[in-house]
Amino acid sequence: MQNINIELLKSYGLKATPQRIDILNTIEKLGHANIDEIYEIVKKSNPTISLATVYKNITALVEKALLKEVALNNFKSKYEIIKDRHSHLICKVCGKVTDVELNNEILLLSEQLSNNNNFNYKDIELNIYGICSSCA
Ligand SMILES: [Zn+2]
Ligand SMILES: [Zn+2]
Repeated sequence: MQNINIELLKSYGLKATPQRIDILNTIEKLGHANIDEIYEIVKKSNPTISLATVYKNITALVEKALLKEVALNNFKSKYEIIKDRHSHLICKVCGKVTDVELNNEILLLSEQLSNNNNFNYKDIELNIYGICSSCA
């Protein structure tokens, strides 16, 4: 079975173990997922896998910058496969994370605010908290 995540692991110099492939497939499917959610799905096809192994693999993938941690207030961190810069809409009730594009005005404003404060702008990370349509 050829899979884009096998190529992804290889391109990062990582061994494409079945567990890592399953972890990436799961995160890809869910978009953003915490370790418990990933474990629940991955153990279906890997009955002997432990939560600690999932945790270790995810930590390794974050260190290699193949996964990115999305830290959430009041919820366990979620993980996503690295992609173009974007911002997150985060539901305060269920913790659902939705990707939204960061538009040029926000980028420009960040640069201006940095310049105005003699700060060398490098990057922006924007989390917007609110209530999703399912929880409203
Ligand atoms: Zn919600
Ligand atoms: Zn995201």
